Amino acid sequence: MRARALELLPRAIEHDLANGDAGNLFDSLANAVGQCMDPRHPLFAELVRRALEARITQGIGRGQSDEAFAGVAETAVGTLMSAGVRVADLWLLVAAYHAHYDNGGERRRRSIRKAVESSQDALERLRAELILAKFHIDTSEYRAAHSVLDGCENLMRRSRDTDRYRADLHCSRAMSYFYADSGRAEELFRQAIQEAEPYRDDPDVAQSAAQAHHYLGRLAYSRGEFGEAIEQYLEAQELSTGRLTGRGFHHLRIAEILIEYGEQDEAYYHLNECAYFFRRVYQVSNGEAQLDHASARWELKAGRPDKAFELLESALGKAAGTSFSRGVIQYSFELARLHLSHRRPFRAFRLLWRAAVTLLVTELIENGRPAFGKIRTILTLVPHIGVVPRRSRPRPQVACTCGADHVRPRVWT
Ligand SMILES: [Zn+2]
Repeated sequence: MRARALELLPRAIEHDLANGDAGNLFDSLANAVGQCMDPRHPLFAELVRRALEARITQGIGRGQSDEAFAGVAETAVGTLMSAGVRVADLWLLVAAYHAHYDNGGERRRRSIRKAVESSQDALERLRAELILAKFHIDTSEYRAAHSVLDGCENLMRRSRDTDRYRADLHCSRAMSYFYADSGRAEELFRQAIQEAEPYRDDPDVAQSAAQAHHYLGRLAYSRGEFGEAIEQYLEAQELSTGRLTGRGFHHLRIAEILIEYGEQDEAYYHLNECAYFFRRVYQVSNGEAQLDHASARWELKAGRPDKAFELLESALGKAAGTSFSRGVIQYSFELARLHLSHRRPFRAFRLLWRAAVTLLVTELIENGRPAFGKIRTILTLVPHIGVVPRRSRPRPQVACTCGADHVRPRVWT
């Protein structure tokens, strides 16, 4: 009976691969793992890869728990590893999957480490190390990120066919300077875009260029060049068509500008688009926290502080739950300020205390040593802290140029 089922498995897998639906691919993978399919069968590795990619790009199928999928995927990649199959890139996909839930979490770190350890050639190693650097940046471990990126640069010098990774290298290095040295970061982001130019047909390289445009938008925003910032986000949007999480983030950044300096209808349109894309991929990591935070500011502008309190509390909870320390600091400050404006000094004090402790532990100390250079990280958060609604609404300074019909937001459930 079992032998017969195993015999039928490859055909069923081929059918699900052709269909490409994330839910079917998961069922197929669970079936292959459950029936102990031979990991050396070429369809097995292909199925693992496609099931992970489908989950990352299409989102998580309803009714299937995240934990179940993560468990099955990790078991499958572990089985392939024991059978001597190349798995470094598969571990990176597992890491990308974990990033949806807990960007700075242990499981993501562990999967990336496994990718580094199981890499079998220079290119696999390079891909894994570049992701490791991003993990360090996401968790504010900048010294560690710099040292990994130096290693990547050495590896690129010694190996062939590494030019297409140069855009990613520059982009990651730029991200590591984003809070500490915006001039250097900007220069590196522009270099990343140039390096990506010859490889635009490669979605991974295009993604690095999209990321660089996204960050150039944030830098333009911090200089008060709102129109330029929106243009950069739209450029990023065009380059990252297949990545739903990225698309959500571009909408979020545009919304953040419009909430402060534009028309509130236009801001709502982009908040709604962001929520739509995040929901499609079931984004629950720091993206959801940032969306709640932006929505809280929108509610404040609309004169609904109660709703804003609720959303800020939710943003803070999500930031704390996903090791998003910069979020914890920023949202604690904002919530404290809101409590103060409603004459609740004790609650405000508790939040400020929490922000101070998080700041000390995660941002100003790294590997047991003080990292005062990071004080700039906090200074960049300060301009976002003035959230008390204004009595007289100033005239909008910027209009969105995305071309969408902003008064008709997408209807979805
Ligand atoms: Zn727009």
